[in-house]
Amino acid sequence: MRALLIEDDRMIGAAVRQALIDAAYAADWVTDGATALQALTDQRYDIVLLDLGLPAQDGLQVLEKMRQKGIDVPVIIVTARDAVDSRVAGLDHGADDYLVKPFEIGELLARMRAVIRRRAGNANAVLGNGTLTLDPATREATCNGTTVVLSAREFALLQALLLRPGTILSRTELEDRIYGWNEEVESNAVEFLIHTIRKKLGATTIKNVRGLGWMVSRTE
Ligand code: CA
Repeated sequence: MRALLIEDDRMIGAAVRQALIDAAYAADWVTDGATALQALTDQRYDIVLLDLGLPAQDGLQVLEKMRQKGIDVPVIIVTARDAVDSRVAGLDHGADDYLVKPFEIGELLARMRAVIRRRAGNANAVLGNGTLTLDPATREATCNGTTVVLSAREFALLQALLLRPGTILSRTELEDRIYGWNEEVESNAVEFLIHTIRKKLGATTIKNVRGLGWMVSRTE
């Protein structure tokens, strides 16, 4: 999952970005609307966290421009403006949810999971293809009766595959779901993660399609 954080407060931005990385998101952080709109044009995101009080253009304007451009990524407004009018305006401009500062990181992460789930048309919190299941709230994976807790990056990789069962994802596509900007990616990082996931859950959980990438079966 790739998240874009639009926040001009340096301390909040740094703290939320780190919390997103710890929660297995590939997290990119920008501090103004123009950079945000460029990032959203260049890159596919799964979710956007949007502050309203931004320099130059207000968060609501950014949201309006995003929707005008046809960028329909889920958006959670995260702001200190707690007036009812402000919440209504945010939701009416096309936001999916609204969280008032100060907030607990745990609540933000739960709202992110809920918004992503709703957008995917999936009421079930647990991902899975029959024998293999993954719980985004706990990072627990279960395969053939074995339950293990995955590391943040193992989780991010397996989640990317389980969101598109039966589809081969290339190394670049997987890296894109796991690492944000400024994160150093070792050349064999994806292979290493596949290896550690297979070690925990069994060799057959992820199939290698030579020269193309990796996939999980649609049903097992
Ligand atoms: Ca602000």
